[in-house]
Order: sequence, then structure tokens, then C-alpha cells
Amino acid sequence: MTATVIKPSVINPPAMLGMLGGGQLGRFFVIAAHELGYKVTVLDPDQNSPAGKIADVHICANFDDALALKKMADTCQAVTTEFENVPAKSLEKLALATTVRPSAACVSIAQHRVLEKNFIKDAGLPVAPFVVINSANDLPNDTNTIYPAILKVARFGYDGKGQARVKNQADAKQAFTEFKQETCVLEQMLALDLEVSVVLARDSMGNIATFPTAENSHLNGILDISIVPARCSEVIKANAQELAKKLAEKLDYVGVMGVEFFVVGSQLLVNEIAPRPHNSGHYTIDACITNQFEQQVRAMTGLALGDGSLHSNAVMVNILGDSWVNNLEPLWNKALAHASLKLHLYSKHEPRKARKMGHFTVIGKNKKAILNAALIARSELNIGLS
Ligand code: ADP
Ligand code: MG
Repeated sequence: MTATVIKPSVINPPAMLGMLGGGQLGRFFVIAAHELGYKVTVLDPDQNSPAGKIADVHICANFDDALALKKMADTCQAVTTEFENVPAKSLEKLALATTVRPSAACVSIAQHRVLEKNFIKDAGLPVAPFVVINSANDLPNDTNTIYPAILKVARFGYDGKGQARVKNQADAKQAFTEFKQETCVLEQMLALDLEVSVVLARDSMGNIATFPTAENSHLNGILDISIVPARCSEVIKANAQELAKKLAEKLDYVGVMGVEFFVVGSQLLVNEIAPRPHNSGHYTIDACITNQFEQQVRAMTGLALGDGSLHSNAVMVNILGDSWVNNLEPLWNKALAHASLKLHLYSKHEPRKARKMGHFTVIGKNKKAILNAALIARSELNIGLS
């Protein structure tokens, strides 16, 4: 992997593309790549990974396995990732021999809350007040206005995992001990009016195509529903687009990224960056001219970016393992009886509580009607029970 290789500026089908990670995001990537005539190699240690199952080649190995990485570097014209906890070192190694998008540097920032928050702040974008906690001595005392707050581990947190809500220093100390004194960010708990997100694609020339701003609601720290267009002022929607673009430019990002925002009154604060397609961008599969996974393929191969505009209003609902009450399969026929409901199941090996098993999107012209249909289908599928 040490030889200098000439990397072509455009990688045409039927080239082999590489995907680090075999989850649902990887699976949608494989589908999009196949549609465009590419082949895909997926690296994932899980024999039953949703993306590995449908890839042309599944390398079943760890993400830092030297032989596996060599095979990817030798056989893939470009490599990307579907989750931010892929070792940045693996991306660096691959980049010596093949095109890697997004870069290891961008992924490293997004996978570490301290680097991420500092990057966003230094870029001049607003974030919630926070303190970096390296040791218990860094925990502010009760007079600090940061409380009530959320303690978040700097690394490997997702879907609300590695987070604790704390009222005071004593709470924070206990949570910090429970997190094994790993570096954390202590963030002020905000009274959120709304959460929104923007997914965008940026190519190596610096062109950016954004998707519409989505409005997101969470249940137990996990995305539950995305509504598009978001039901907030045009100013907030446009601001979110501008801030997301600014971040992509500052990062010199190439690929698809998601940016989560908090809305507090008229203020828009950046929450976090995902260096990959985002769950809140799943609506793009059924409601946009080009979806976020096709954009991921386009950005990594050097093809022109597609048009990300919305052709239908959309409501996306996540389906978690919790819907399998007493291990019984949800009544899919009921949900599918809604004619404009598009169901996507991820072919996960088994349902588990809080595990993302699938999602559905209801599309249409009438915003109220699609939200209503989505909420009915949501209850028919036992979503939000526990
Ligand atoms: P994850 O990586 O798990 O998505 P987030 O930081 O996005 O972590 O937190 C998950 C959810 O928890 C957010 O979408 C939001 O609903 C809630 N949350 C996180 N931080 C705050 C905060 N400072 N104030 C209020 N709610 C928050
Ligand atoms: Mg989040």
C-alpha cells in the first residue's frame, strides 16, 4: 500500500467501490451504487450485516485488519464510510493507495465531540455552552449556570448512548464515574423549540448540493420522526442551510454529511456533524430527485452531483426493534395499506430494543394528510409503545 498510485478524477461504472461498515446506511449505498452500475465491496466484521449481504464482495473482518484493508485498497477505486467510529487510521492507510472520501481528517473531527465542538466554535458557528471534562476536577460546581446539563462521552456515543442528564455537580460526578472517566463534554441543557438537520453533498471541486431542511423529533435520544419541509420559519430553514454549507467548506469536506441543529427561539445552534448520510435524510430516497446515497456515490466517484430538490412533501418514521412486541412481526400489511407509504426494512438479523430495523416515508402534496397517515401507520406498527 505504499506505492504512489495515480488516482483518476472520475471513476466510472462498473468500477468497484469500497464501503467501510455494513449497516443500513451501507446497504442503501450498495443499492444506489448498483443502480448506477458500480460494484461494491463492504468491510464489516458481522457476517449478517445488512450491506454485506447484498454487496458484490463482503470482507468479513475488523475495520483495522491490515489484510482486509490491503484487499480493499487493491480492489476498490474509491472508499467511503457509513459510520463515524471507523478508525481514522484505517482511512489514512487506505488513502495512501486509493481515493478516500470523506478524508480521515474530517472523520476524526466528527468522531470526537471535543474536536467537533471546538471546530464548530472556531469556525464562528454557534454551539450550546459546554465545558470539556478530562478529569473530575473539571466538573463545574453548582453555582455554574451550565446546570442542568447533559454529560456526553467524547467518543463512540450515538442514538443518545453515552449521555446522562445531570442537575448538579454531584450528579455529573456520578455520571462521569459511570462513563469510566473518559473525556466528556458537559453541555448546557437547552429548552429546545425544535430540532432540524441539513444533509448535503460536496464534491472535490467545491460544488455543494443541499437537501431541504428536515424537522426532527426524538424519542429516548433516538430519531423518531422527520418532517420535510420543516415547520419553522423560512429564515431558520435558510440559516441552517447556510451554516451546514459553511461547515462543509471549512472542513474541505468531500462526500455526504449531515448537520444537526437545535432551535431555541430565533437562535440556531449546531449540535453535531455526521460524516456520512444521515438518518434524517432517509426521506430523500422517496421524496427527492436524487437521494442522499446516490449523492454519496456521485461525490466519491467525481461524478457531477445530482439535483437534491424535493418532489413531494415527506414524513419519515423510524421503526425500532421495540415494534416486535413479544417477538411478533409487526403488521406490515396495515402500514402498507396506506398507498403513499414507502416501507424500507433493513434485513437485520434480529430485532432488538432500540435497534433501527427499518423506516417508512409517507409522501404527498398535502402536508397535514401525510403527517396524519404517518402517525396512524406509526401506531399500527407499535411505534413509540415503550
Ligand atoms: P447522538 O450522537 O446520540 O445523536 P446528540 O448530542 O445528538 O447525540 O443527542 C441526542 C438528542 O438528545 C438530541 O437530538 C436532542 O434531542 C437531545 N439533546 C442533546 N443535547 C442536548 C442539549 N444540550 N439540550 C437539550 N437536548 C439535547
Ligand atoms: Mg445526534
